[in-house]
Amino acid sequence: MSTIHPITQHNYLQYLNEKKLMGSKCKDCGNVDLPARAICSKCLSINTAWEDMTNEEGTLSTFSCVHVGTTRFVKRGYNMKNPYAFGVVTLDNGAAITGLLVGVDARNPESINIGSKFKVNFVETELDEEGTMKQVDVGFSPV
Ligand SMILES: [Zn+2]
Repeated sequence: MSTIHPITQHNYLQYLNEKKLMGSKCKDCGNVDLPARAICSKCLSINTAWEDMTNEEGTLSTFSCVHVGTTRFVKRGYNMKNPYAFGVVTLDNGAAITGLLVGVDARNPESINIGSKFKVNFVETELDEEGTMKQVDVGFSPV
């Protein structure tokens, strides 16, 4: 997107499909929100703007290794023997978001450490059998 778009969920997802993680920053109090919000979650100001967080790093705040996942994850090959790790990463700028943890061993949760550094990554998934409809989800990989 080359023009300025209003901060909406739709535009957040559009950016995500372009592998851009866009949050928002409040021009009044400096708070950052992720996903982007038109209204600041801290001071309720509408004086907010897009903030590109694509290249951010952060620390793992919490995670779970999922053995019985949603239909979408089962279709991607995850199951009891091949679990996936899903976590909350708090970015260095203060924003926090959930995402798939890639490059970790979800079969050995003790090998994944809360407080370790992760960087924003993107996970591309196909929504249909033919692979014509794709969706990009937020992911994280160890630094
Ligand atoms: Zn604010």
